[in-house]
Amino acid sequence: MQADYVVVGAGSAGCAVACRLVEGGARVVLLEAGPKDRNIRIHVPAALRPLLKDPKVNWNYTSEPVEGSAGRRISLPRGKVLGGSSSINGMLYVRGNPADYDGWAQMGCRGWSYEEVLPYFRQSESYKQGGDPEYRGGNGPLKVEDYRTILPLTHRFVEAAQQAGFPLTPDYNGGQQEGVGYSQMTRRGRFRGSTAQTYLRAVKGNPNLEVITGARAGRLLFEGKKCVGVTYRQDGQDKEIRANNEVVLCGGAYNSPHLLQISGIGPAAHLKDIGVDVRHDLPGVGSNLADHFAARLKHRVRGETTMNQLSRFPHVVPEVAKYVLFGKGALTFGVTSAMVFCRSRDGLSSPDLQLSFTPATPKDMGQGELGNPACK
Ligand SMILES: Cc1cc2nc3c(=O)[nH]c(=O)nc-3n(C[C@H](O)[C@H](O)[C@H](O)COP(=O)(O)OP(=O)(O)OC[C@H]3O[C@@H](n4cnc5c(N)ncnc54)[C@H](O)[C@@H]3O)c2cc1C
Repeated sequence: MQADYVVVGAGSAGCAVACRLVEGGARVVLLEAGPKDRNIRIHVPAALRPLLKDPKVNWNYTSEPVEGSAGRRISLPRGKVLGGSSSINGMLYVRGNPADYDGWAQMGCRGWSYEEVLPYFRQSESYKQGGDPEYRGGNGPLKVEDYRTILPLTHRFVEAAQQAGFPLTPDYNGGQQEGVGYSQMTRRGRFRGSTAQTYLRAVKGNPNLEVITGARAGRLLFEGKKCVGVTYRQDGQDKEIRANNEVVLCGGAYNSPHLLQISGIGPAAHLKDIGVDVRHDLPGVGSNLADHFAARLKHRVRGETTMNQLSRFPHVVPEVAKYVLFGKGALTFGVTSAMVFCRSRDGLSSPDLQLSFTPATPKDMGQGELGNPACK
């Protein structure tokens, strides 16, 4: 197909961009390094755990040991499959605090103040469980739902948080983020609502969209200073594809800068070090990554039902039946059923901490043998 746009990476961003471009009448080729999202574990929310290490659908990165992590390597799972990380993530729908967006806008990111991004949030989601229409949308491709099955332990956490002085927020994606609230998830009924199953599904069969999986993009192709296409490798063969208008990089926070660097766009000294000809000296490419640590604390509880029990025989049997027959029960469970957004210290104008409550203690949430010993 003659593509107007080549979108690299069919993850959260890539599926949304491809869908919207196709809806606007453009011809789009979407390249994805990983496979189709056929693994059942992707779709059943509570079945996710093994995917956090599965190299078939996960890039399985690890951090360099740094002082801030006490010299340990921390595992960095990233989706490598249709839907990208939205196919292996915790499904929590959290927009972030308005002050984060306003901060970016103040630093010169035009168009990114919360007021400017809010219409796109509303347009993108379908949240049928109420919420203030000033903030929430009802007709977008992304399905957002409240939890269907709440264990009493979650209510206890929410009550305890209020006793500790955190106000209850009925909708942390609405007018008030700060406080304690029940989680919202990107879920379509009983299944995960990845961007592949929402945005991409919305344009499935459209002749203007070609999705190529198992296609790992490499260098960008240029005519002068203009990017006109991209090389990729599929089934052991090197191929290339050209775009009439633009190549849109949606490879994620780790891979997009990598693709730019191997194409000669990045800090000149570093590119020379790794033997890449410098096309454009751009020092910011590959720098300033900010990711969040998840430090886990486990507590033993008595006299309460937990996901640990429900996931074991014999309790798991009725849970599977509930899931198959009614789309309810423990298998619809994501990771976190309630959260507190709070400030770590006085003087901050908005929350900088997200405390997540999980009525389960899975042995391995992706950190594997590199896990945080302090949290075991
Ligand atoms: C385990 C985990 C749990 C998370 N939990 C949550 C959560 O509960 N709530 C939340 O909001 N966020 C969560 N996140 C974060 C969220 O999923 C990501 O921020 C988001 O999906 C990133 O979107 P993206 O489009 O930038 O990248 P991705 O969704 O990662 O997509 C990038 C895509 O590009 C492809 N790609 C990369 N390089 C190439 C190449 N060279 N050629 C072709 N294709 C390529 C990748 O295979 C991938 O499919 C979680 C992430 C992970 C990994």
